[in-house]
Amino acid sequence: LTRLKAALKRSSSKLGDGIAGIFNKRKLDAAALEELEELLIASDLGVATSAKLANNLAKTRFNKDVSPEEVRSALAADVAEMLEPVAIPLEIAPERRPHVVLVVGVNGAGKTTTIGKLAKQQAELGRKVMLAAGDTFRAAAIEQLQIWGERSRVPVIAKQPGADAAGLAFEALETAKREAADLLLIDTAGRLHNKGELMAELQKIQRVLRKQDESAPHDVLLVLDATTGQNALNQVATFKELVAVTGLVVTKLDGSAKGGVLVALAEQHGLPVHAVGVGEGAEDLRPFSADHFAKSLMG
Ligand code: GDP
Repeated sequence: LTRLKAALKRSSSKLGDGIAGIFNKRKLDAAALEELEELLIASDLGVATSAKLANNLAKTRFNKDVSPEEVRSALAADVAEMLEPVAIPLEIAPERRPHVVLVVGVNGAGKTTTIGKLAKQQAELGRKVMLAAGDTFRAAAIEQLQIWGERSRVPVIAKQPGADAAGLAFEALETAKREAADLLLIDTAGRLHNKGELMAELQKIQRVLRKQDESAPHDVLLVLDATTGQNALNQVATFKELVAVTGLVVTKLDGSAKGGVLVALAEQHGLPVHAVGVGEGAEDLRPFSADHFAKSLMG
């Protein structure tokens, strides 16, 4: 809880200071409600969600004296309720050898890092993990994944930069099956400026995986950078057109004032949030808890 709280400091001070400013010895009147709604929108909670939260508060407290603490805790309770349905841990089915997770997202969102963190955590739980360096466009992404693999003694299936990503994914699944791995995490390229090509590539990867396992990939994780705020919402919409996204990981909550975007994501897209990134270390990928997040966000 403390680590998340620290990570969300910039988001929570913005909200906390704002709420303190609005509700300092003041009734919860129409003007105050409007200011609150604006503050929530500016904190990336989304227009519809911000209106809903303000309305909920008005239901029981309109024209009454309220303290900033009371407002914060009422909002935290409401936000927790909104987040509860999407706070779903990533489940790795033990009967699958391997459980295949395709990891997608724009360049820089934190795909490779998230895969590295997940690999380390799962390996420490005793699972046999394999990685596929499917972002074959960037030599740096391949190297970065190899470094994570070495660190956790997790094998990385990689080819030279420019190699066919689908071919690599096919071979990686072959190897993972042969060696009865529990979990295969596949990195992908994130070139969103060329949507058509990216879609073709992601679909080809899925096709070749299904040749070996009809149910693969078992998860398609979309990694989003929280610092991009409202843009993260657009990225979900875009990636949903490219591939059947099954869940989200939201990274870089540390040092972002836009943590509220998680609430907007939950309300608009309803996709499971499997984990959040609060730093660059392996331990900084955390399960997503609705209650902890809501409390940390509202200070
Ligand atoms: P990719 O292009 O999507 O594979 O993105 P990378 O995994 O290469 O990440 C881009 C940068 O973001 C790297 O410098 C990572 O260390 C950093 N990063 C990823 N996740 C987090 C996080 O949760 N917090 C912070 N502070 N940095 C992160």
